[in-house]
Amino acid sequence: MSDLEEEYRLDYFEEHGFRRTECSECGDHFWTLDPDRETCGEPPCDEYSFIDDAGFDEEFELGEMREAFLSFFEERDHDRIDPYPVAANRWRDDVLLTQASIYDFQPLVTSGTTPPPANPLTISQPCIRMQDIDNVGVTGRHTMAFEMMAHHAFNAREDIDDPEQYAYEGEAYWKEETVAYCLELFEELGADPQEVTLIEDPWVGGGNAGPAFEVIYKGAELATLVFMQFEQDADGEYEMKDGNCYSPMDTYIVDTGYGLERWAWVSQGTPTVYEAVYPDTIDFLTSNAGIDHTDEEAEIVHRAAKLAGRMDIDEAEDVEAARDDIAAEIGVETERLRELVEPLESIYAIADHSRTLAYMLGDGIVPSNVGTGYLARMVLRRTKRLVDTVGVDAPMDELVDMQAERLDYSNRDTIRDIVRTEVEKYRETLDRGSRRVESLAEEYAETGDPIPTDELVELYDSHGIQPDMVEEIAAERGVDVDVPEDFYSAVAQRHEEEDVASAAETAGYADRIADLPETDRLYYEDQNRTEFEAVVLEVFEREDGDYDVVLDQTMFYPEGGGQPPDHGTLSTEDVTADVTDVQVHDGVIVHRADADPGTGDFVTGQVDGTRRRRLMQHHTATHVVGHAARHVLGEHVRQAGAQKRTDSARLDVRHYEPVAREEVKEIERVANDLVTDNSQVTQEWPDRHAAEAEHGFDLYQGGIPQGEQIRLITVDEDVQACGGTHVSRTGDIGAIKIRSTERIQDGVVRLSFAAGEAAIEATQETEDALYEAGDALDVDPMDVPETAERFFEAWKDRGKEIEELQEQLAEARASGASDGEEVDLDGTTAVIQRVDAEMNELRATANAISEDGSVAVIGSGADGAQFVVAAPEGSGVDAGAVVSELADRVGGGGGGPSDFAQGGGPDAAALEDALADAPDVLRQVMSA
Ligand SMILES: [Zn+2]
Ligand SMILES: [Zn+2]
Repeated sequence: MSDLEEEYRLDYFEEHGFRRTECSECGDHFWTLDPDRETCGEPPCDEYSFIDDAGFDEEFELGEMREAFLSFFEERDHDRIDPYPVAANRWRDDVLLTQASIYDFQPLVTSGTTPPPANPLTISQPCIRMQDIDNVGVTGRHTMAFEMMAHHAFNAREDIDDPEQYAYEGEAYWKEETVAYCLELFEELGADPQEVTLIEDPWVGGGNAGPAFEVIYKGAELATLVFMQFEQDADGEYEMKDGNCYSPMDTYIVDTGYGLERWAWVSQGTPTVYEAVYPDTIDFLTSNAGIDHTDEEAEIVHRAAKLAGRMDIDEAEDVEAARDDIAAEIGVETERLRELVEPLESIYAIADHSRTLAYMLGDGIVPSNVGTGYLARMVLRRTKRLVDTVGVDAPMDELVDMQAERLDYSNRDTIRDIVRTEVEKYRETLDRGSRRVESLAEEYAETGDPIPTDELVELYDSHGIQPDMVEEIAAERGVDVDVPEDFYSAVAQRHEEEDVASAAETAGYADRIADLPETDRLYYEDQNRTEFEAVVLEVFEREDGDYDVVLDQTMFYPEGGGQPPDHGTLSTEDVTADVTDVQVHDGVIVHRADADPGTGDFVTGQVDGTRRRRLMQHHTATHVVGHAARHVLGEHVRQAGAQKRTDSARLDVRHYEPVAREEVKEIERVANDLVTDNSQVTQEWPDRHAAEAEHGFDLYQGGIPQGEQIRLITVDEDVQACGGTHVSRTGDIGAIKIRSTERIQDGVVRLSFAAGEAAIEATQETEDALYEAGDALDVDPMDVPETAERFFEAWKDRGKEIEELQEQLAEARASGASDGEEVDLDGTTAVIQRVDAEMNELRATANAISEDGSVAVIGSGADGAQFVVAAPEGSGVDAGAVVSELADRVGGGGGGPSDFAQGGGPDAAALEDALADAPDVLRQVMSA
C-alpha cells in the first residue's frame, strides 16, 4: 500500500520554507510558513480573523474580484472560458445542477475522449449546491448559489502504450505550479503568507480520487486544489478515505476551486459573506422588513457573526447547542440572541435564494415536479415562506428580478412571469394542503406522538407544505413535530438521486459485438437514397429464431433520438430477408432479419422508402415545431422529450402554463411559414467546443452526443445536435398540423402533430368527425357548432325541467297518502288524487302511478278542471272512457286510448265532486 503522504511533499514547499505539521485540535496535517503555528487555521480549530480586519490590500466587489482572478491566470497563459449554464443536465445526463467548475468537463474531457476547450484554462463558473440550503443565512458563510473561480490543466501520461488514444497529450502543469499559482495570487492581492495554511485533505468523488489541499486564510477556506489522478481499482495500491482502492489513471487533471464570494468577503471584512455579496439587497430587505437595531443590539449581532461559523449543520453536532455556546461567549441569553439574529438569517437566505432563482430561471429552468424544475420550485417556495415569515412586503418577482438584473439576464420578463405563476400555484397548494395538516395534527394529538419526518417529507412533496408551517398548525393542537435540521437538503438529495438513477441505462448487448468494427453510416451521406450494397460481417442467431445481421456499411437508420428504425430488406441471390428492427451498439449497427443472408456474402439492402420519408418529415417537423414553440411561448421553451412516428409525432416542451388555443394556432402558423419558406435543412460536423461556443447548450435538446465532432442540423434559425435523418428542404415536410396539446405533468406540455401526408390524413379525420356530427344533427357541417350549442342548451334546460318535475312528483307521491284516495277494484288498486299543477306534471304523476301497477286518476284545478287517467295493462280500465265521463261533469270533453287519456272542462268548481264520483265511474267503466 503506497503512502499518500509522499504526494504532498513538493519542491515548492521545500524551496519556500514551508513546514508540515499536525493540527493540535483536529489532527489534520497541514503546511505553513509560520514556525509557531499549531492549529490548521480552519474553524472550529481557529476563528475567522478577517472580519473587521480585511485580508487583502484592497476591497473587491464581486465583479472586481472575478476580473482580478481571471486576468491573473490569463497573464499566466490560461485561456479564459465563458461560464456554462447552472443546469448541468444540458450537457451531461448524470447530474442536474452544476456544482463545480469541473462539471463543465465531465465526463468527456476528464476521460480523455474529447479535448478541453483550451488547456490550461481559467473560468468563473456559477454553481448551485442544494445540499447547503439549510446552512444558508445561518453560518454567515454558506451561499447556495456561488461562482467557482478555477484554473484547470488536463494532462495525459506519455509513458503508456498508446498515448494517442487520448484527446490531449503530455503535461500542461501539475502540483508544483498549481500550488505556486495559488500562493502567488495571495501575495499579489496583499495577503500575509504567514497566515496561509494548506491542509492535506485527500479528495474522492465519482470513482476518481487524488491528493488535495484546502487552502485557508484568516479562518476562511478560500481555495481547494485537487489533483485528480486515481481511478477506483480493486487491485489499486492507494487506499482512500472511502475505503476503496485506487490506481493511477492515464489522464491526470488539475481541478481547483476558488469561491468568488468568499474572496470578495475576505477582501471586505464584513460580518457575513452576504453583506459582501449583495449589500444593496440586504439593505433593501432589512429596511423593508422593519429591522432596526440599537447600537448595543448591532454590537451583539456583529460579535455573533464572527462566531457563526460554528453553526454548520453538517459539522456541528447540535446547531442549537452551538447557538447556546455563542450566546454564552458574548454574554447574552440564548433567547435574546435568537430574537436578534434569526430575522437577519432569514433576510440573508432570501437574498441568496433570490439569486439562486435568478440563475436557475435565467438559464431557462421551468419549475415543475421533476428534475431541475423540482429544485427550482423548492427554492421558490422556501423563499416565499421566508419572505412571509420575516415580513418582507415586496413581490417575489421583484426580488428575483433584482438579482436577474445584476446577473445581466435578458429574459427578465419571462423570469418575472414564471415567478408570479409559481407564487399563485403555491398559494392554491397551501389552501388545499393546510386542511390536510390540520387533520394530521388532530390524528397525532390523539396518540400524543410527534409528527414524524416521513410525514413531513410527504406533506412537502405532495402538498408543498413546509415543515415550519406544519409546526405552527401542530403547535395549536399541542402536537410536536420532528424537523431535522437538514430537511431541505435531504429532500433535494432524494430528488437528485432519483432522477440520476433513472437516467442511467445500460444496453446489455455489448460483449457480443465488441470485436466488430463500427458500421459505416451511409444514411448521413445521402439521406434520400434507399438502396445500397454491403458485405455481411457477422450473423448471430437469436433465441426467437430471427437473425442479428452486422454489415460493413448500411443505409438503415438505427433507432435513436426518438426516431424509430428503418424497415426494408436485405437480399442475396438466394435469400431475401425482411428487416424489422435496427439498433446500434457502440457504433455497430445490428439489423434484425427473418432470414440468414450468410456471413461473408454481398447483400443488396433496400430501405422501405415510404416509411423513411414519413419519419424524416416528422423528424424535421419536430425541429420546426420546437422552434415555432420557442418563438411563440418564449426562449425558456426546451424539449423534454420527443417521439417520431410515420403518422404523427409528439414533442414535449417545458413551459409553466397550459398552452392557449390562440397560441397553438400561432405555433402552427409559424411552423407552416417555415415550411413555405422552403429553406435548406443542412447537416454539418463541426468541432464540439466551437459549436457549443457559437450556439450554447441549447444544441443538446434532443440528447447529448459523444465525440470531438458533433452533427448539427440547421433548420432556419434552429440549430440542434441531432443524429436523425432529415428532409433536404423544409418544403419537403409538406404541411404541419398540430392535433392536440396536453399538459402531461406540471411544467411539461405535449404537442402532438402530423406532417406531410399524415397532416392531410389528420385533417381529413377531423373533418370526417365533423361530417358525421352534421349527419347526426341533420345540418350542414359548418352549422354543427351552432346547432350543437343550441341542442346542448336545450338538453341542459330539459335536464333541469326533469329534475324539477321529479321533485314535484316525489312531493306529490308523498302527499298522495293523505290527499289521494286508494280504491280497490277487484284486485286492482286505483289512486284518485287532486294535484293542482301543469298538465305535464299531471301526466308524469299519472305515468308514475301506472308504472307502479295502479290505475291513476289525477285531477287539477290549475286551469279550469283537467283530468289525466292512466291505466296499466291488464287493469281492465279504459282510460279514454273514464276521462270522457269525468270531463263531461266539468262541462268539457276529452278522451284517448285505453291506457292513457286526458281531458277536462271549464267548470273548476265541479272538480271535487267529479273526483268524488271517480270510484263509481271506474267501476262503471270496468263493468261496461
Ligand atoms: Zn484543525
Ligand atoms: Zn432531431
